[in-house]
Amino acid sequence: MKYCKYLSHSGVARYAFVERQDGELWAVRPMVAPEEDLATRLISLEDQSTEAFAAAPLGSLSLLSPVTPSKIVCVGRNYSEHAAELGNEVPKEPLLFLKPPSSLLAPGKSIRMPALSKRVDYEGELAIVIGKRCRNIGPEEDVRQYIRGYTIVNDVTARDIQKSDGQWTRGKGWDTFCPAGPVVALTGHDEIDPLDGEPVTVTTRLNGVVKQEGSTKDLIFPIDFLLRYITAFTTLEPGDLIPTGTPSGVGPMQPGDTVEVEVSGVGILRNLVEAE
Ligand code: ZN
Repeated sequence: MKYCKYLSHSGVARYAFVERQDGELWAVRPMVAPEEDLATRLISLEDQSTEAFAAAPLGSLSLLSPVTPSKIVCVGRNYSEHAAELGNEVPKEPLLFLKPPSSLLAPGKSIRMPALSKRVDYEGELAIVIGKRCRNIGPEEDVRQYIRGYTIVNDVTARDIQKSDGQWTRGKGWDTFCPAGPVVALTGHDEIDPLDGEPVTVTTRLNGVVKQEGSTKDLIFPIDFLLRYITAFTTLEPGDLIPTGTPSGVGPMQPGDTVEVEVSGVGILRNLVEAE
C-alpha cells in the first residue's frame, strides 16, 4: 500500500491511498493525515470542508511531497563505486549531512539551477520515512517499528559549491534541491522491503537515458545500521526523511532537462530543470 499528498481543487492539501491499476498509479481513496505528524495534523484539522473524493491517476493530480520532515538526514558516499568516481575514500563510518526542509520540491516541479553554480548534479536515492519518534535505537531492537515506509529523493547537488565551501550546506541545501515523492510505500504493506535483504533498485534517467543503476544490496552501511547510528546523536520524528546515498553515475543537469529517479516497488520521481 502506498500513499500520496496532493492539492485538491479548492487548494487544500489532502492524502490518498495509492494503488497500481493497469500499470499506472492511482489515488484510490482518501486517507487521514499520518497521525503523529504535527505539521500534517494541522492541515487535517483545516480539512473540514471535504470535497467529494474521486479516484484519479497520479499524473492528473497536483502532487505535493508526501512527507513533512522536521529534518532531512542524508548519507554521503554510501556506495563504494560512487565514492571512487569522485576520487573519495569509502568512509569508515556513515558520513552524515543535513538538507533543510525548505529544499523540498514536489514531484513534477522544476529544480532551479543557481546562477552561482556551474555544475548541478542529480543523485537518485532510496529514502527512509520515519513513522515513530526514536532515539538511541538499541542493537537488538527491530528498527522496522520506526519506519513508516520508503520514498524517492533526488539529492540535487551544486558540485562546485560543495567543493569550494568545504561544508555541504549550500551545495546540498539550495531551494528546490530535494525533490521527494511521488508516494510513500508503507512498510509491511508493500512489495518493497530492503531490510529483508530483498534488493531494491535505484535507477536515474536524464532525458530518458539511464545514468545510474544501483541496488541497495551494495549499500556500505545498511538501513538498520544507519538508523542506529543516526539516533545515537539525534531524535528522529515522524515524517523525517533519510536518503540513503547515491549509486555511481552522478552527473550534471542543464536547463530544459527532465530527470527521473525510479525505485523498484515505489515508483518514479520526475522533475524538470530550469535556470534560476
Ligand atoms: Zn546523496
